[in-house]
Amino acid sequence: MIIVLKPGATQAEIDHVIEKIEAAGCKPHLSRGVERTIIGAIGDESALRNLPLEILPGVDQVLQIQKPYKMVSREFKTEPSVIGTGGVMLGGKRLHVMAGPCAVENREMLIGIAKQVKAAGATVLRGGAFKPRTSPYAFQGLEAEGVRYLADAREETGLLVATELMDPRDLELLDRHVDFIQIGARNMQNFRLLKECGSVKKPIILKRGLSATIKDLLLSAEYIVANGNPNVILCERGIRTFEDYTRNTLDISAVPAIKTLSHLPIIVDPSHAGGRRDLVRPLSLAALAAGADGLMIEVHPNPEEALSDGPQSLRPEGFATLMEELRRLAAFLGREL
Ligand code: PEP
Ligand code: MN
Repeated sequence: MIIVLKPGATQAEIDHVIEKIEAAGCKPHLSRGVERTIIGAIGDESALRNLPLEILPGVDQVLQIQKPYKMVSREFKTEPSVIGTGGVMLGGKRLHVMAGPCAVENREMLIGIAKQVKAAGATVLRGGAFKPRTSPYAFQGLEAEGVRYLADAREETGLLVATELMDPRDLELLDRHVDFIQIGARNMQNFRLLKECGSVKKPIILKRGLSATIKDLLLSAEYIVANGNPNVILCERGIRTFEDYTRNTLDISAVPAIKTLSHLPIIVDPSHAGGRRDLVRPLSLAALAAGADGLMIEVHPNPEEALSDGPQSLRPEGFATLMEELRRLAAFLGREL
């Protein structure tokens, strides 16, 4: 339920509405927008329906949110959210590109590639320390050592860093050492993990599950937001379809659809979507044209030797060329890169 306050509602009036919501056993979430202040009441709304909230002083309207997800919906917040950290804010005019290897393989390689993607214009270094591999015999990542190398790369280059969290036991480590915490496609519906992500304030990059609908993705985002962390950035990374020429099928329509349904920013990962180096450029261009707030791209100094996802990784030179092209497209679209 959303309680829309009158312009100029006083703090005492707002507090009074909050008291009523809490007394009914619901959680109030205050959102002060440019035009109006609204209070979301989350929880079992049946107790609230019997209260005449409309007649409380300072209240303009009371609306039911029809969507199954509440706090991430556009109904809850009509203006787009701008989410990020340390100067890398997604959802505004400025676009951001996160780039780096699929996995952190060693310190030298990571710092080298960090310098190259930064020179090309990336603002975030990506790299998996904990890798979700289909086979238990495949390289599983350097784990805590990899997180240390990411922190070193951050120190050396000034780039912010993003890495994947697979287990709640590693949340504290990542919260301390990285700037963006990624929840991978395979864990999009790991609800305990999502709830844990609600306990920190770090921006969470939530990747769409392999067979998740847009509604499923938004409900997973709702888990994080409803548990206390409003800082969620969605990521479309392709879904499983019957097509097997590509690794996944990039659902380009998810970008404008999510812009309509939610106020959260959305980025696109063309690398895991296409699974092929030659598709990264066209999918990146399509993503920005469709309204994405940024991209996450795999870049490796020597893809033939990569411990994971070499076939979809760009070489540093290819990434630099793509960035130039993306900059021209961004200008055309009235955005900055
Ligand atoms: C990744 O970004 O390294 C990754 C494993 O992606 P996804 O979870 O989208 O498969
Ligand atoms: Mn990968």
